[in-house]
Amino acid sequence: MSQLPVIIIGSGLAGYTVAREFRKLDAETPILIISADHGGFYSKPTLSNALATGKAPASIVTASVEKMAEQLKMTIRPYSRVAAIDPLAKTVTLRDGEKLPYSQLVLALGADSIRLPLEGEGVKDILSVNDLDDYHQLRNVLEHKKDVTILGAGLIGCEFANDLTSAGYRVRVIDISAQPLGRLLPQSGGAFLQRRLEAAGVTFHLGAATRSVERVHESLRLTLASGEIIQTDVVLSAVGLRPRTSLAEAAGIAVNRGIAVSRSLQTPHGDVYALGDCAEVEGRVLPFVMPIMHAARSLAATLAQTPTPVRYPAMPVLVKTPACPTIVSPPDPARQGEWVVEEDDEGVKALFKSADGKLLGYALLGASTREKNALATQLPAVME
Ligand SMILES: Cc1cc2nc3c(=O)[nH]c(=O)nc-3n(C[C@H](O)[C@H](O)[C@H](O)COP(=O)(O)OP(=O)(O)OC[C@H]3O[C@@H](n4cnc5c(N)ncnc54)[C@H](O)[C@@H]3O)c2cc1C
Repeated sequence: MSQLPVIIIGSGLAGYTVAREFRKLDAETPILIISADHGGFYSKPTLSNALATGKAPASIVTASVEKMAEQLKMTIRPYSRVAAIDPLAKTVTLRDGEKLPYSQLVLALGADSIRLPLEGEGVKDILSVNDLDDYHQLRNVLEHKKDVTILGAGLIGCEFANDLTSAGYRVRVIDISAQPLGRLLPQSGGAFLQRRLEAAGVTFHLGAATRSVERVHESLRLTLASGEIIQTDVVLSAVGLRPRTSLAEAAGIAVNRGIAVSRSLQTPHGDVYALGDCAEVEGRVLPFVMPIMHAARSLAATLAQTPTPVRYPAMPVLVKTPACPTIVSPPDPARQGEWVVEEDDEGVKALFKSADGKLLGYALLGASTREKNALATQLPAVME
C-alpha cells in the first residue's frame, strides 16, 4: 500500500513553513496541503503597508501554487475546504464529501477577523483585511474614495492608518481605549505614537465606541455611543482576530482560546498537531511571524520522528508605522514588574522591569528604536 500523506490544512505562513522544514528532513513522505484559498505564497504582513507603494495583489504573491508544489515536492489542493476531521479514523472530509486519509495531520487554519456587534444595514459594507483576497477587495473599494475610518487602534489598525495616510487618504481611527496600541504600549508610548500619526494626518477618536453604521447613498454614516456622527467613504475594521477552532472543536479536539496544543504542538489526539494563528501553545496565542517560524521548525522535526518541543526566544514585534518606528517586546502578563520610561521629543524608551531590575519587556519608539539590538540580548525567552 502506498504511504499515507502528512496532511496540512492551510497554505498560510504556518502551513507552508512546516511543509518546507519537513521537506528538509524527509524527502520521501508525501505531503498534501489542502487550502480553502488560492494557495499562492505571500507575506501577509505586507498587506498593511502595500497601499502607499501601490502594490497590486498579484505582485504580493511570491510563488504560485504550482511553484510551491514543485519546489516542495508535494500535492496542493487550492480552493478546497475541509469540512470535518475524524481523528479516530484518521481522515479529513472535504466539503464535497471526499474523504482523505492521513498519517499525521497539521492544522494551520489561521484566524478570523472579529466583527463588532454593531447595528445598521451599513455593517455588511465594513471591510477587514486578513488575507490577500481581502486586500484585493479593499483596493477595489478604495478606488475613487477619499476618506477611510478604521475601527481599532491596535497594531493592524495603526499600520493601515499610516499606510492609507501615506497613500493620500483622509484617515480617522476610532477605538474604545484611551490610546493606540493599548495592549502593547505604556501610556507615554501610546501618546507618542498618537502624536506622530496625527502629525502624519491621522485623526483619532479615542475612548469612543461605535454603535451603528448606516449606508447613506455612496457614504457610510457611523454613530458613536456619544451621539457623534461621522460620515465616511469606507470603514475598515481592525479589532482583532479569533483563532479558527470550529473544525477541531467539532472533532472533539480540545479548544480553549485557540486549538490547545502542548509544547510539541500536539493535541491530545497524538497524530493531530496545530500551529500558527489557530493554535494555543501551552496557554499562549501568539499570532505573529516569529513564533510561527519557531513552531514550524520544531513541528517539522517531530513529524519526522524526532519529537522536538518548541522553544520561543524573545520575539520583539516591529510595528510597521513609518511615521513612528516602533518595536515592542511585550512582557509576559504572568510576570510582575513595572514600566520605567525615558522620553524626549525624539523618542520613548520604556523598559518593563521586575522588582530586582531584570528586563522583562520593552517598547521603543522613534529614535529609541536604535537601542533594540543592545536590549534584545537582555530579554528573557518567552518559552524556554
Ligand atoms: C494585515 C496584517 C499585518 C500583519 N503584520 C504582521 C507583522 O508585521 N509582523 C508579524 O509578526 N505578524 C504580522 N501579522 C500576523 C501574521 O501575518 C500572521 O500571524 C500569520 O500570517 C498567520 O499565518 P497562519 O498560516 O497561521 O494563518 P493564515 O495565513 O491565515 O492561513 C490560514 C490558512 O488556512 C486555510 N483554511 C482555513 N480554514 C480552512 C479549511 N476549513 N479548509 C481548508 N483550508 C482552510 C486558509 O485558506 C489559509 O490558507 C499580520 C497580520 C495581518 C492580517
